[in-house]
Amino acid sequence: MTLLDSEVEKTRKPVPGVKPRPGWELPLVYLVVGLPVVGLVVGIVLATRHGGISITDAALALGFYLFTAFGITVGFHRFFTHQAFKTHRVLKIVLASAGMMALEGGVITWVADHRRHHAFADDEGDPHSPWRYGRSPFGLVRGLLWAHTGWLFDSEKSSARRWAPDLVADRDLIVLNKLFPLFAIASLGLPALIGYGVTGTAAGAFSAFVWGALVRILVVHHVTWSVNSLCHVIGERPFNTKDEASNVNWLAIVSLGESWHNLHHADPKCARHGVEKGQLDPSAALIKLFERTGLAWDVRWPTEQRLARIRKAA
Ligand SMILES: [Zn+2]
Ligand SMILES: [Zn+2]
Repeated sequence: MTLLDSEVEKTRKPVPGVKPRPGWELPLVYLVVGLPVVGLVVGIVLATRHGGISITDAALALGFYLFTAFGITVGFHRFFTHQAFKTHRVLKIVLASAGMMALEGGVITWVADHRRHHAFADDEGDPHSPWRYGRSPFGLVRGLLWAHTGWLFDSEKSSARRWAPDLVADRDLIVLNKLFPLFAIASLGLPALIGYGVTGTAAGAFSAFVWGALVRILVVHHVTWSVNSLCHVIGERPFNTKDEASNVNWLAIVSLGESWHNLHHADPKCARHGVEKGQLDPSAALIKLFERTGLAWDVRWPTEQRLARIRKAA
């Protein structure tokens, strides 16, 4: 039986493991979501005026993209949320810091939300299911918008004590989580500082800020959010999951391997999400590099037996 959108709203039950979001957070969420959009508009104006983007700005955007996006995919997601590998304290701190510079919230907050997502995937309690408003075309469009960005403005947030007790017990992470404003300032300020160092002009610092900070943050955000929205709606589902998680191959490179989301939901602790031949997974490649250099161990690589267990029958 399919419920109408209004009925879906009415039948929503109270969610365990959430707490009210403090009022002061909301203006900050608007700022963090909105400012990068303004940055993109300014970037387009600058590029039109200057006939493109300078090598310095492109390198800064790419460099900071890789650093902060890997912080999310390898750090926040595969290491902190799912414990797909083990590492030293120093790399743990580097990964947490890199992820926080993506401006997707503190590491503990992010992990709490994401564990709740897995616990209730596409069901009551999932913080960002695109199926929240039912399966009608209008409900799905509304749900996609909710899963992509709307959920960030929800009046409730995941309880860290309930969803991330291991992280709450880690003093390093408590300190880093509290330093989130400093990471935000570094993420916004460092590209401008480097841009000024290279060009020696205020205009150079400004365009480095626009591309290396604002536009880069915009892309990191929307790629992460596309995994929450698109990777639960479109694409293939070769593995058995209890939810709608799907593989979206054209997002693989830019998402650093995170869009092999169907496999990820079928085997959340697996360090590699792109497990089939030809499925690019740059995050798994980085974890492999960590392993080879002694920075990571006890890595949960996929095994043929495990894959055979979760793969759908042909
Ligand atoms: Zn998911
Ligand atoms: Zn996950």
